[in-house]
Order: sequence, then structure tokens, then C-alpha cells
Amino acid sequence: MTKPSYVRVIIDRAIHRELDYAVPESLRSRIGVGSRVRVPFREKSALATVVGVMEQSEAKGIRPIDAVVGEAPILSEQLLELGRWISTYYCCPIETVMRSVLPQVIRRAEVGWKKQLFVQPGRQPDNEELEKLRKRAPRQAELLEAILRLEAPVRASQLLRQVSLDNQTLRALVKRGLVEMREEAVVRDPHADEQFVATSNLILNQEQTRALEEITQALDSPEKSRPILLHGVTGSGKTEIYLQAIRAALNRGCTAIVLVPEISLTPQTVERFKGRFADVQDAVAVLHSHLSEGERHDEWHKIHSGRARIVIGARSAVFAPLKNLGLIVVDEEHETTYKQEEAPRYHARDIAIVRAKIEKCVAVLGSATPSLESYHNAAIGKYRLVTLTQRIDEKQMPLMRVVDLRQERRKQKSATILSEKLRIAIADRLEKREQTILFLNRRGFSTSLLCSSCGEARNCPNCSVALTFHRYPAVAGRLSCHLCGHTAAVPKKCPACGQDALIYAGFGTERVESTVSQIFPKAVVRRMDADSMTRKEAYRETLRNFRTGKIDILVGTQMIAKGLHFPNVTLVGIINADLALHLPDFRAGERTFQLLTQVAGRAGRGETSGEVFVQTYTPFSPSIQFARHHDFAGYFQQELEFRERCGFPPFKHAVLITVRSPHEGRAKLSAQTLQRRLKEALAYSAEAAPEPEAPSGAPTSRKPLGLPSLKAAAKAGPPEFILGDATPAPLEKLQSQFRFHILLRGEAIMHLSRLVRETVDKLPVPEDVIVTVDVDPYQLL
Ligand code: ADP
Ligand code: ZN
Repeated sequence: MTKPSYVRVIIDRAIHRELDYAVPESLRSRIGVGSRVRVPFREKSALATVVGVMEQSEAKGIRPIDAVVGEAPILSEQLLELGRWISTYYCCPIETVMRSVLPQVIRRAEVGWKKQLFVQPGRQPDNEELEKLRKRAPRQAELLEAILRLEAPVRASQLLRQVSLDNQTLRALVKRGLVEMREEAVVRDPHADEQFVATSNLILNQEQTRALEEITQALDSPEKSRPILLHGVTGSGKTEIYLQAIRAALNRGCTAIVLVPEISLTPQTVERFKGRFADVQDAVAVLHSHLSEGERHDEWHKIHSGRARIVIGARSAVFAPLKNLGLIVVDEEHETTYKQEEAPRYHARDIAIVRAKIEKCVAVLGSATPSLESYHNAAIGKYRLVTLTQRIDEKQMPLMRVVDLRQERRKQKSATILSEKLRIAIADRLEKREQTILFLNRRGFSTSLLCSSCGEARNCPNCSVALTFHRYPAVAGRLSCHLCGHTAAVPKKCPACGQDALIYAGFGTERVESTVSQIFPKAVVRRMDADSMTRKEAYRETLRNFRTGKIDILVGTQMIAKGLHFPNVTLVGIINADLALHLPDFRAGERTFQLLTQVAGRAGRGETSGEVFVQTYTPFSPSIQFARHHDFAGYFQQELEFRERCGFPPFKHAVLITVRSPHEGRAKLSAQTLQRRLKEALAYSAEAAPEPEAPSGAPTSRKPLGLPSLKAAAKAGPPEFILGDATPAPLEKLQSQFRFHILLRGEAIMHLSRLVRETVDKLPVPEDVIVTVDVDPYQLL
């Protein structure tokens, strides 16, 4: 390595620029791309990441760096390249991207290992001294004897616990010089107390064998391989394939990342991976949002130092600092939780594809219900499609029954929670001692409080949504806003008209739980949603009790829709399938289809086949009908036609710009100005010959090559871009901020991103107006 005289750095603060510094002679041997450094910045000092090393610099007024932080560079060139790609693609300053690439606890200078005191024997006492000690200080003698018997140093706290003696006794021995103590770094392992049952490879069925072969072939020539889309129905044994593919990667001296949605990062999943790789010490590191700072620090270093060779984690694990990466698996690739909803607004599945390209490794995306984007990419040949059509042991797909709530309403004369058919089915399961899952994606007891006289609903003062009534803690008996957390007491009379005519309308999981308990008083009913699961242990406990059969009926939100595997569940009820369907979002249909298919996948994973009841007011909507017949291809076909007709992804990329402010007028004006400037910039860029599209894999679909130039396309007919007006967002007010949207769509996303970035940067906005840019948005409200 040449010794650099100058470095280019990204400072941790948002200044939107990279800066050059000189490297003092004494520091040159310890610095490289990816090093963390402390530099003088303005009048203060700041932490920064080195992104380039140079012999020379043209910059003026160069100052020297103050110090190198830590021993070795902590960021690889590949991760740096990935960071730059994200910055360009997602219209986001590089320093903001860095906040995701390097966890906070790693970026800080004072990162620390947990230190603990270890004890070992000190000066050897003679018999006389020992005898004296036994008489005068019997507890000291007892402790000393325990320490003399030690074969290796042990943790002081652990030893004292074992012999039931206190710290004071230990200190006294240290003072006498008979015992020595020293500090040592220990690793915090959040899974240290858990036992993992070692498992070995299962014998794969034919479809699985073929899928694994595809992956191992790709592992043998990763440069030539395309990402693999593994489309396998729920319970078709995808996870088993991942496990064996990872083993194949390890056998080739490589490492692997497995991304799973946060919600399915259950102890069950972690156990499965740790169990399979129990033969490799420390092989598996786990990254998720519940880790303490210390645990995160230790897991990260376990990965960076090369001890951990498999990383399993949620979204941000895509940045795990593994070396010699061979395989990245994205399980449940269609999950929207892979999209980060704050800057950098990246999508981890797409980042996985780009990282795989940069690191020349294999990417495998798995799902029972692939996203339209990925399936389309497979259809046009960008991805390699591998299909698993059978459930393991040829278990039947569950029988799906659609219940028309319109008819039910005529019978019951009020909103139906349980239709008669579903009720009978539950009773039948209780009789047979089989289990039921009831699914409703809405929390609370009643979803609004209405006045039947004047029609006013109780709305949140800060957001444009109705307040939800909760019966249970934490907001027992109060109204609460699910967006900002505002709570209010339930008024006796309508505050608007003064009439005593308030009624509760709409129902959530709390109401389902209480209704089901009333109808089936002998059944054990539990609820699992964000309100009932505020404690981490509550989640594990409920799952355990459900698995061991202590719970008959589990009611829950999407928390229970994913990845769980309970052989004794033979009935799933979807209380209201329409909830997601009518949102102002072009993915509403796709989400409904996925949700129904995934929830249905929870039924009949054991010996007995399953049954699913889908309650809906729109029984003939395509999402419901295709899901009912387990017809992915049919669904995909018609949804794709719709997307193409309307110019939505995967045919065009979308960029959603949100302008918000506590002051409605200012937000609106800024949005309108920005829209006008974008229009001008787009017109101008269509005139000028555009630069070629950035080469690295823009992840979602485009025609693979030979994209016509913008100019040619403009002449040829339909416009390359669709720029919407500045309009109030569907969720007009959120947390006391008024919100306006501008939606821009087009194919050449790198070009669009750059253009938006430049236009937004130049826009003069009042201080209380905030503009955010979301490329490939998933949240359209
Ligand atoms: P998926 O990830 O597709 O939902 P899993 O990998 O979880 O499916 O498999 C479902 C169940 O079938 C699991 O209990 C798993 O242990 C079992 N299984 C998977 N592959 C095999 C196999 N080849 N032989 C026997 N059992 C298998
Ligand atoms: Zn609110």
C-alpha cells in the first residue's frame, strides 16, 4: 500500500460535500480508504470517514487530520461504492447514507467493548498465613481456596455468585496480594443463554434439489450469474434450501447474509440457523433493532473481524461488513418493511442486488408471493426464476372460502365480526382441539367515535385521521391517534352539537378478541398486536404458549401473518379482507393478494389440511379471487396489465416528493414552485442530450439495454416523464404538519434522481418548510 499524503473524507455532519485533509507523516501507515478519522472542521473537530487517498490535492487551505480512530479501516471499498450508489439513486447526501452503512455505535470514537473483572491467584501464601486467615477471616480463606483451585481466570462476578461471597471479601484478598484482578473485554452475546439443538441437512425433494443446484452453480461462477428468484409456495421448503446454499457458500470459503423482515426475525428463525451451523463456533451473527448498543457493537465486530461468517438480520444487515461475500439471501423479498421510511430511503432487496453485483456474489430472492417488480424482472430475463410448486410432503394448499359480508349483513343487521360460517368452523376446531388464527390488520377496540346526530367524528387535532378507542392498556378507556400518539378522554356528549348521541363505529383487534371470548367462553383467546406486545418477552411468551397448545385462538394484526409455523393450526379467519384494498395506493391490490396468500399459508402446516375463511364486502375483486384459487400467475398477469396501462412500477419508476410545513400556505406555495421548476428542468433536459444511464444495476425493471435517448423518445411519441401536480397528500395533516405531494414517474431513474436533487437543492424554501424525496416509494399516503 502506498502511504497517502492526502485523504478525502466525508464528515459525519450534513454538509453535502467531501473535503480534503493532509495526513501527517506519523499517521500515514495506519490510514486507508474506510478509516475513521478525527479532523478539524470549522472551529471544532469532527469525526469523518476516509473515502479516498491521494498523492496530491488541489484544495486550498488544507489542514492536517488530528487522529486516526481505531486500528484498521472499518469500511471496505465495496461498501463505500455501494454507499455512493445509494446516494445517487436515492437522492440522498452521502453522509446520510453513511449513517445507515455504519451503525451509530461503530461511528462514534468511544466505541467500547464491555470490560469485566477477571480473578486469578496472586502471591502464593504459605501454610502459616493460610492457617491465620482461616481463623481470623474465614470468608476470605474460603474465597482464596476457591480461587487457588481455578484452572483459568474467571469472571469475578460469576465466581462470587458461585461461592455466595461478596465483593468486599475479594477486595481484601487483592489488597493482601493473594489474588490478582484484571480487566478484560468480553463479548455480549444476546443468545448466550440459549441452547441450540444441532441439526443436519434434510434430504431434499426433487424441486428443492433443482433449486439448490441452480444456486450452487451460480456460486461456482458468480460473475456470470443472474440474481435468482425463488418462487415457492408457503411451506415448500425454501428455508431448507437457504440453509444448504449457505453451507455450500461456506464450503467455498465464502460468507453469507440472510435478510428477513424484522417481524419474522423470531427466536424460531434464529434457532433454525444457529442450530444448523452449530458445528462452526460463533458462525452466526444476528442483527436486529432490539439489540442494545453494546450488543450491536459486539455483533458488528464479530462480523468485521471475520469470526462470524453468516449474518442473519433485518433490513440494515444488508450492510454487514463481511469479507469475501458469497451469497445474499432475501427471504420474503416482497415485504415492504425492507423499505426504509426515513433517509436514506433505500429498499434492502434492491440494495442486496446491487451489493451482489459489486461484490460479485450470488443473490437469491425468495417468496411465496414475489413482488411485481421481481417477478417482472424474472419474466424479462434479468433474474433467473426457480419455482417450487409443492408443499413438503405434498401437503394440500388450504381450502379458501370467501364469505360475502353483504349477505351476512342482511342476516345480522350490523357489522359482522364473525360470520355464521366462520363461527361454526371455529366451534368445530375447538371441539377437535385444533387451533385457529384470526387476522385483522387494525388495532384498537373501535376505530372511530361518531355523533349519530351531527355526523362529526372525533379526529386527532394534529393529524387528519379519526381517533381510535382502546379498552386495554396503555391507553385504557381513551381515544388515541395511531399516527402521533395523541390521546383524549371519551366525551360524554358530542362536543360539536352537544347531543348525547355518540356511537362507536368500526372495530379493531381488541373488539375481535372480546367478541370471540364472549361467543366461546371456554376457549383461551389471546391477542397479538403492537399494543399487547410492548414487552419483548410478551411476544415470545405468547408464541410459545400458542405452539404448546395453551392458546386455542390467536387474534392479531400482520404480526401473526408472516413466517410463523404452527402445525396444529387448521383454521385461519380473515376478518376483513377489504381493509388494505381501498387505500389510495397503486399497490393496494398487490398487498391484499400477498396478505391473503401469506395469512392463508399459516393454515394446515401439519398433518391435517387447513381451511381459510376470507370475509369481504367485495368478494369478486381480482386480488381476492386469484388468492382464493392460489393462482399467482393469473393474478400477476392482470395486475401487470393494470400497471402498464397506468404507467406505474415496474414499468416506470416513481419519485414521490413531499413538501410539509406547520403553515399550510407556505407548504402549498413551496410545493407549487417546486413543481413548476421541475417541469422546466424536465423540459430542458429533454432538449439537451441526456447522459447515459448510470451503469450499475438500477434494480427494478427497465428494458435491459438500448434504451432510446430521451430526445428520440420525445419525438417518437409518449413522453418519457409523467409529472403530477402539487396536490394535498391523502394524509393531509400529520403531526401538525400540512403535507403536499408531487409524483414524478419515468424510466431513466438515475437521470430523474439527479434532476430532482439539483432542483430541490436550488429551491429557496422558508425555514419551516421541509422537502423530502422518496425514490421507488412504498408509502403513498
Ligand atoms: P418455507 O420456507 O418455504 O415456508 P420451510 O423451509 O420452512 O418452508 O419448510 C417447511 C417445513 O418442511 C419445515 O418444517 C421444514 O423443516 C420441512 N422441510 C423442508 N424441506 C424438507 C425436506 N426436504 N424433507 C423433510 N422436511 C422438510
Ligand atoms: Zn395524530
